[in-house]
Amino acid sequence: MKYCKKCLQPDTRPGIKFDENQICYACKYEDKKNKYIDWTKREAELKEIASWAKKEANKRNTYDAVIGVSGGKDSTFQAIYAKEKLGLNVLLVNSTPDCITEIGRHNLDNLANWGFDLIQMRPNPKICKKLAKESFYRFGNIVKPSEYCLWASAYIIADKFNIPLIIQGENAVQTLGTANTAQEDNSDAFGVVNLNTLGGCRAKDLCFDDITLKDLFMYEFPDIEKCRAKGIKAIYLQSYAKEWSQIKNASFSIARGLWCRDREDLHDLGRYRRYNSLDSDFALVNQMIKYYKFGFGITTDEACYDIREGYLTREDAIWLINEYDGKCGEQYIEQFCKYINITKDEFWNVVDTFVNKKLFTKIGQGIYRKNFTVGEDFDERNI
Ligand SMILES: [Zn+2]
Repeated sequence: MKYCKKCLQPDTRPGIKFDENQICYACKYEDKKNKYIDWTKREAELKEIASWAKKEANKRNTYDAVIGVSGGKDSTFQAIYAKEKLGLNVLLVNSTPDCITEIGRHNLDNLANWGFDLIQMRPNPKICKKLAKESFYRFGNIVKPSEYCLWASAYIIADKFNIPLIIQGENAVQTLGTANTAQEDNSDAFGVVNLNTLGGCRAKDLCFDDITLKDLFMYEFPDIEKCRAKGIKAIYLQSYAKEWSQIKNASFSIARGLWCRDREDLHDLGRYRRYNSLDSDFALVNQMIKYYKFGFGITTDEACYDIREGYLTREDAIWLINEYDGKCGEQYIEQFCKYINITKDEFWNVVDTFVNKKLFTKIGQGIYRKNFTVGEDFDERNI
């Protein structure tokens, strides 16, 4: 396992790319962002896109733009930025997760109360549950199906209402350094369908047993080429707004009423930032499983982000990763077991089939990290 020399991005992340000096592409983008991108020009481009959207919307008699929102820090920033700074008439779309948290409900209400029309899409809970269970057994990923809905929602509504502009937030190619869309600085957000978690994202991948495409309208992206032909554009706000940053989006949104996970133990959350994964507890369980699959979890992601933005040294990041990464409160695991109706023993048996045995070992009831040091390259055969 190798780590990026600047942050702590491991080479076990699917799709990750390092350069010849073992620097990840997320770090390279950060450098480029600060030194080489002409942000004044980008902002002018964004204003042009906004005025184009307004004209188109008048012609089409529809909203100027659509934004898929969870009500979390990024979508709150996106929506208010689009409305207040760009002067757009925005329609919000939310794909409501099964078992949404109280914090998630509050945040969605809070955002709508800033003055937005909001469409809430609620996929059939019985199907959600079946898909979560199947996805757990098949991929060791319990949130994958709900991510299809989450991502598809804004595209579905743009297509149906003929809305000219879709505004996405973050481009994962840039912030995670994954190369799946093969373009380092791509501002076209139709490329979202190539994201690793979505893996092409055709709803037919989710058909099994008695679940058919007719059950999965909310999981299916519209035809991207047809959307383009209709004159629908999709952009990442991150590519145009220099101020885009997780930590700044969080403080922007907290100042506007966002609730975070303020009362929970950080070990239960498996992270040290309280502003991520606010609307679903299952996302916490999923991050723990990811840790056992790849040897890193959400704490690593948060720490890499913070190193790049200068909020954390590499040394302190290692400390935080050792302390919190891969942890998950029993209450969330129990909640998930109850949800898909399995015992905890069964849960751990399934998780065990996905554990990376080169990095972890099972002792009794627990799974333990083998003897390697976070941040130092090593050969999996020697630990
Ligand atoms: Zn890096």
